[in-house]
Amino acid sequence: MVRQHLSGLPVSQLRRLKQRINSYLVFREAVASFQEMHFADLCSAKCFTSSTSACCGREGIITFFADVVVNVLLSTQQEIDVLLDTLDTDTGGSNCVYLHNTGCLWRAKPIVCEMFLCEHARNLVLDNNEALNSQWKTLRQRERRYTWPTRPVLFDELEAYFVAAGFDSPLMYLHRSPGLLRLKARHGLGNAKGPK
Ligand code: SF4
Ligand code: SF4
Repeated sequence: MVRQHLSGLPVSQLRRLKQRINSYLVFREAVASFQEMHFADLCSAKCFTSSTSACCGREGIITFFADVVVNVLLSTQQEIDVLLDTLDTDTGGSNCVYLHNTGCLWRAKPIVCEMFLCEHARNLVLDNNEALNSQWKTLRQRERRYTWPTRPVLFDELEAYFVAAGFDSPLMYLHRSPGLLRLKARHGLGNAKGPK
């Protein structure tokens, strides 16, 4: 649905949407490089070599509608085909359907996946390192600027853009979740208007 809608947009509108997610992508690069620098070795030793991970369990994550939009904006048609084929041929199991032997099949994995650190990893890397702990807290605060609707945020805007175009999805938590709607109302926000 997202792919179909985006592929029918005029080039200028698509360009504006891509520009709108630029600062979010800068943030994502910062998180990815923090994870790579401080957690890659640990995660590889603890989970990837033994194929047991608390990170990528089936039904273990929440995906926002905006995660899908960002991913489609960044992916090739072929990459989206692979995601759809994977869903169609899912045979169950305990892992997330998108976990492949080369890693996650999403080009930009959902934000909840990106920000997840298990207790073991947090204890080992962050608990005794005040500087790293503080860097991680800063990244968590930056995350909220895109996802947590106590102010106008990108994730709400991207949902609104598709709502205005007549789409609906159970993943539109910023328009559907009673808790998030109450939070928005408490901060004087109605439903956002999408990027023009
Ligand atoms: S964060 Fe924890 S569960 Fe996830 S891969 Fe790293 S060590 Fe494993
Ligand atoms: S979407 Fe990707 S990162 Fe998230 S749980 Fe699935 S395989 Fe893991």
